[in-house]
Amino acid sequence: MPRYGMVIDTKRCVGCADCVVACKTENNVPEGYCRDWIVQDVQGDYPDLYMEIRSERCNHCENAPCVRCCPTGASHIVEGGIVLVDHDLCTGCKACIAACPYDARYVHPEGYVDKCTFCIHRVREGKDPACVEVCPTKCMHFGDLDDPRSEVSKLLKSRPHHALIPEAGTEPKIFYLY
Ligand code: SF4
Ligand code: SF4
Ligand code: SF4
Repeated sequence: MPRYGMVIDTKRCVGCADCVVACKTENNVPEGYCRDWIVQDVQGDYPDLYMEIRSERCNHCENAPCVRCCPTGASHIVEGGIVLVDHDLCTGCKACIAACPYDARYVHPEGYVDKCTFCIHRVREGKDPACVEVCPTKCMHFGDLDDPRSEVSKLLKSRPHHALIPEAGTEPKIFYLY
């Protein structure tokens, strides 16, 4: 069984937001909401400043508090460790939204909670997630973190990287290359 994750090269990301548009189109994300977004993070002290541009989304955490706290079982984990929300089981109570340190979820206008699915419908067909496929600089990589031959594993082995808010203990599966 794979353990899916993403590796994103922040050196190559130009902040074009094509990944955001692709996701909205692929997943019929309603106007005014998003499953992925761009962050411009300025680090360091003047004059030694550095800006990291990041495409962010649900981290499909290994130790997912949104799944643990869900009272109906709507938030659940499927093959490859992908975290999903069963829209029919979701009551819109927002416990998962409060539990997620990454602000990765939103309440869909139809009343259920929604978020990134790693485009599981595409992954099941052997394709990359929509955001990964459209990225013009090819800075996003999707694959099996447990397979030493996968591109994501090779990148993590060869390049320094970080994950977001590791101190929250959720064990996120999206990594950003420096
Ligand atoms: Fe960055 Fe690629 Fe997204 Fe453009 S599509 S913002 S280059 S990750
Ligand atoms: Fe859950 Fe948030 Fe982690 Fe996604 S990023 S699995 S919504 S805790
Ligand atoms: Fe959107 Fe799919 Fe990318 Fe998730 S994996 S951010 S659902 S395009």
